[in-house]
Amino acid sequence: MPYYRTSFGMVHMRGSKLPDPCGARVLIAGHEQICMVASDYLCDGQAPTGQSKTCDTPLCKAHARQIGRNQHLCPSCFLQHRDADPQRSLFTSLV
Ligand SMILES: [Zn+2]
Ligand SMILES: [Zn+2]
Repeated sequence: MPYYRTSFGMVHMRGSKLPDPCGARVLIAGHEQICMVASDYLCDGQAPTGQSKTCDTPLCKAHARQIGRNQHLCPSCFLQHRDADPQRSLFTSLV
């Protein structure tokens, strides 16, 4: 039963088939906090340790960075992806 951030404030949702709250870090009133909006996506980025697993950070619509068909990255993976592959246009990879 996760907590979600909504326009009404934090809401405790009941139910079993609920998405995880978004794990992106955001600045709210000058403090770094976890976004916690109900997520629609999971990050497909490489786990930071270099394992074959993916990052799997839950992401809301506002924080999922689409890099391809059904591929989304969290903000930190997106930065790494962009730094690691500077030649590739982010706009053409969206097609
Ligand atoms: Zn978010
Ligand atoms: Zn990620």
